[in-house]
Amino acid sequence: MKKTDTEQIRAANRVDIINALRVFGPVARVDIGRITKLSPATVTAITSELAGEGVIEEVNAPTPSTGRGRPRVLIDLNPNHACVLGIKLSINEIRLMLGDLKGNILAESVVTAKTQAHDQASLNEMLVSQAQRFMADYPEQAQRLVSLGIAIQGFVDVHAGDVVWSPALNMRHVNLTRALEEAFNCPVELANDANCIAYAIHKQPDYADCRDFAVIMIGYGVGGGLIVGGELYSGHFGAAAEFGHTKFSHEGPQCACGKRGCIEAYVADYALYRDASAVMDLPATDRRHPSEKQMGRLTQLAVDGDAAASRLFHQAGKALGFGIANILALLSPQKVVVTGPGVRAFEQMQAGIVEGIDDSLIPELIGRADIDPYPWSLDMTGKGIIALALKHFR
Ligand SMILES: [Zn+2]
Repeated sequence: MKKTDTEQIRAANRVDIINALRVFGPVARVDIGRITKLSPATVTAITSELAGEGVIEEVNAPTPSTGRGRPRVLIDLNPNHACVLGIKLSINEIRLMLGDLKGNILAESVVTAKTQAHDQASLNEMLVSQAQRFMADYPEQAQRLVSLGIAIQGFVDVHAGDVVWSPALNMRHVNLTRALEEAFNCPVELANDANCIAYAIHKQPDYADCRDFAVIMIGYGVGGGLIVGGELYSGHFGAAAEFGHTKFSHEGPQCACGKRGCIEAYVADYALYRDASAVMDLPATDRRHPSEKQMGRLTQLAVDGDAAASRLFHQAGKALGFGIANILALLSPQKVVVTGPGVRAFEQMQAGIVEGIDDSLIPELIGRADIDPYPWSLDMTGKGIIALALKHFR
């Protein structure tokens, strides 16, 4: 029998309240009504149900400094009620993170492993055994594990749980979710790192009202994530928002993907360092991964007014601006957020970005979208994959 509409609406309202508490908690019951736009009766009914199940708990607000009046009682998710396991797979490294119901990272462990030396079966065996070993250290939390999430660089099909291509692996079309699902008997989410970051930003209180925005991640590559109608947009084939491989010029420089003239081939760390090395004397580097120190030094040259370095970042900004213009014309988002390690040079690229957008679009299509830099932190991919895994808690 089909679930009744009433049941479905109630389930959706329950998810809205859990999500609101995850972003804004602890809050008063009346605030939940304001945030979710649900009626006081609905909020009362659902919060009572959640309290009965131990999903939420009451916490005392800090006493006002006047010392008068009763302390206000607030409610929040009980962080220990459930947990998720986040896994970040990158070149020669597996990061395991235990997340609580609030989305905080409680514990993490980094394992060095030759990720490119595996076939599909041995890679999955290794992931399962590392995940089991990690969870064995947290037996209480293991009892309350609701889901897992895996984040990886590269192209992924989130619906199938397949990595189509990743620099971390030496093979294509690898399923990473089925073996973990069987081993842990719970759902497993797969996402690429840029989508994780977009989702992590979407879960920040400052972005709670922003339901349509694009995130561009610049660093060792260039990735993208789209939040459309308040949800992460993956596309029909599950690989949406590969912004870095949209084109600036089809005859442009070589991109790591094998094609030419991708935005990434102008803006990624490896592209900037390669192009800079052609016109100035820079220390030799790992071709695919210039170090943070080397990129910092190159950026500093532009900050100090070095003409060649300034031109390079201006050109990168322009390529980025053309790409952003395409996003504005296609999606009319409220914001385009630029983050990733490459945001270190945002100011050096900014004039180029504006020029690229102005050269591409008539003012009516540029609209009023903000192009915002977002400070980068390594935690964001982990927070994002944990938040995505927590979607399975309802
Ligand atoms: Zn490319």
